[in-house]
Amino acid sequence: MSTIGYQDVVAARGRIAALAATTPLVPAPGLSGVVRGDVCLKLETTQPTGAFKLRGAANAVLSLDGDVAGVTCCSTGNHGRAVAYAARERGLRAVVFMSSLVPANKLDAIRALGAEVRIVGGSQDDALAKGLSPVREEGLVEIPPFDDPLVIAGQATIGCELVEQMPDVATVLVPLSGGGLASGVALATKALRPDCRVIGISMDRGAAMYESLEAGHPVEVTEVASLADSLGGGIGLDNRLSFALCRDLLDDVVLVTEDEIYRAMQALYWEERLVCEGAAVVGAAALMARKVAPAGSVALIVTGRNVDMGQFTAVVTGKDVLLGEITVRGTPYGA
Ligand SMILES: *Cc1c(COP(=O)(O)O)cnc(C)c1O
Repeated sequence: MSTIGYQDVVAARGRIAALAATTPLVPAPGLSGVVRGDVCLKLETTQPTGAFKLRGAANAVLSLDGDVAGVTCCSTGNHGRAVAYAARERGLRAVVFMSSLVPANKLDAIRALGAEVRIVGGSQDDALAKGLSPVREEGLVEIPPFDDPLVIAGQATIGCELVEQMPDVATVLVPLSGGGLASGVALATKALRPDCRVIGISMDRGAAMYESLEAGHPVEVTEVASLADSLGGGIGLDNRLSFALCRDLLDDVVLVTEDEIYRAMQALYWEERLVCEGAAVVGAAALMARKVAPAGSVALIVTGRNVDMGQFTAVVTGKDVLLGEITVRGTPYGA
């Protein structure tokens, strides 16, 4: 399968129903007041793994033939958790590759889901390059994080649920990194509501899909630390699907700063009592910064809650946050 259509999304929905949750769509009265609009939140934070990536991983894992030895991926974050969880539920072995730089808490979270963690190389790219060929020989199948038709169809199930929960949806704001989520959500939403606007949001430093769309082809970017750490990383110079789908289906791509992400994490906590990771609040950040007008009924895909709690506590109490070579200056919420 080299492309993907709405029928693939319908098939994915049936397949993943036992593994991934149908997530609630809730009104956001506090945030709506702040941005003077009508905003609802699609809470992917309520997935069993704390992030939407379970949908795509479940669709890919449940589509495998019965005789595979197991699955593998190279991820320290939400994709690694999703692959580990889906494999365990299906009774399959999972091997997750990480570099030696990965902090122990992330490693433990994936081990706790029953996956085998293998440390290879001094960076995530290195881990990917060195890790995957030996396991292919062991009969393990790689589950890609975004550039895969089954993964995209899994993420797209969010769009079907959203249109059922909010039939008059006019604008959907989707966090954007490799573009599996944004392609899927745009595909499903526009199949059902052709006039709905779907806008991708990335951080302004190291936004690989944005830079690639500007260049007209996939380009590499330098990865930098961000409050939206789940949005880091490239889209792959040999990207097969998600680049073309984002180019053809997204109405716009908007970038937000670290200060804007910081204030949006505060707003979702103090206005809506939600614990969200930086990547999950970029849509709220774009609205609050008036970079996207809140036209009609607006839905934000709140993608995940797997935030470092030390960092989260610093943000919501208005403290400075050190991110690699930069400092995000603290300000109390509402000050
Ligand atoms: C992976 C991820 C994204 C981005 O998804 P892509 O398909 O890579 O664009 C957004 N938010 C969270 C929390 C994620 O884990």
